[in-house]
Amino acid sequence: MSTPIPEIRRLKDLSTLVSLSKRRGFVFQSSEIYGGLGSCWDYGPLGSLMKLNVKRAWWNAMTRRSDIVGLDAAILMHPTVWKASGHVDGFSDPLVDCKDCKTRFRADNTDSYINKKQCPVCGSKNLSEERQFNLMFKTHMGPLEDSASVVYLRPETAQGHFVNFQNCQQSSRYKIPFGIAAIGKSFRNEITPGNFIFRTREFEQMEMQYFVKPGTDEKYFSEWKERRWNFYKKFGIREENLKFKDHDKLAHYARAAVDVEYKFPMGFSELEGIHNRSDFDLSQHAKFSGKNLEYFNEAEKEKYIPYVIETAVGCDRLFLAFMCDAYREEVTTTKDESGKTTEDVRVVLGLHPDIAPIKVAVLPLSKKDELSLPAEALRDQLAEDFDVTYDETGSIGKRYRRADEVGTPFCVTYDFDTINDGAVTVRHRDKMTQERIKIKELNSYIAAQLKQFNN
Ligand code: ATP
Repeated sequence: MSTPIPEIRRLKDLSTLVSLSKRRGFVFQSSEIYGGLGSCWDYGPLGSLMKLNVKRAWWNAMTRRSDIVGLDAAILMHPTVWKASGHVDGFSDPLVDCKDCKTRFRADNTDSYINKKQCPVCGSKNLSEERQFNLMFKTHMGPLEDSASVVYLRPETAQGHFVNFQNCQQSSRYKIPFGIAAIGKSFRNEITPGNFIFRTREFEQMEMQYFVKPGTDEKYFSEWKERRWNFYKKFGIREENLKFKDHDKLAHYARAAVDVEYKFPMGFSELEGIHNRSDFDLSQHAKFSGKNLEYFNEAEKEKYIPYVIETAVGCDRLFLAFMCDAYREEVTTTKDESGKTTEDVRVVLGLHPDIAPIKVAVLPLSKKDELSLPAEALRDQLAEDFDVTYDETGSIGKRYRRADEVGTPFCVTYDFDTINDGAVTVRHRDKMTQERIKIKELNSYIAAQLKQFNN
């Protein structure tokens, strides 16, 4: 009898991921034992590893180029930065309160309000006026809480790139076009956070500003659009779940803006923004700081304020997109002689191996010392090169399933034959094929297999 081909079911709702994340240690509600803190999340043992992988994938894609340098700027910046950038005056959302059910919502993205001027929760029309609500978190620097000591938690990392434009350019001696890439925390006092880690008040951004000569900006804007699309493709996001969406309204300084949208369970939503910001940011900082931020092109003997092409993606949002895209249930239905059907469900996170938190699970066939001790030694051998886990509880089938559910690409079984032949069984997550590999060749075998995914 041929093996039945399983039916593939994709993720339908975020709650499936929320519970898997908690159960398997990807993401926990922050301060859970105190009842949690709204929209704040902690990345657990597997989540923290995976998040590092997401960042590494982005960081390498950016900084291993010959024209982009890295930066790790402080969260707290001189308060004038936020005046120059326009955030003090303009970084706000319109907010409305329902006087009946007390719900507070954003006026600009709530359908029931836009269409019928109704509360989205109770339908009441007894609503407050729209008020502009600045999304920046304020705090105080030093012991005095006076207005002179007010500083902001940055709402984006990009301003660090702009104020360090000359430092980075001069220290690296790069010529334009060149870029600055950074990963770091940002904070926005969002009116309506939600959808798990999609929109939170504390999050991480991965932003790159590419400084170009005015007049070449359109060319680089299209190049970056294509590169960013290819990045998602390379790391396994299915193209049918991605699309570009042009902005209907452009910010006054922007010459072009497009979002890369991903089809989350709640619908297509912004994953990344790609913007042509003109010379707005550097000109503003030149004006407010009094410093000349022009670039001097020696060869052409010309001076200009560079234009900026920005790519900005949230690390947490990308983490979520990877999880959503990778989740699948393989359902095999069998019928017994009496006609009764049973469903067997294999949950797999088909993550790209570079993103998967654990690359190899080491599974001794028995808990007995004669297998568990050398299997532990094998774990250590693999840990020199990879993130690995060791699991000796439950049947081997159950352990395979546990590894599949968190996206582990390889399981290595140490069995009684291993003692004599020095070889282990390597089982592949996606095809479930098995191979016998010598222990002394195992690290290079796994490395070669992982590399194949990137070719
Ligand atoms: P949105 O329209 O979703 O509020 P935005 O257009 O304000 O986002 P940008 O300022 O362009 O977002 O920020 C760049 C990226 O940072 C976004 O594409 C998103 O991935 C991420 N990001 C922005 N705000 C949040 C947030 N509150 N929580 C998580 N990620 C965020």
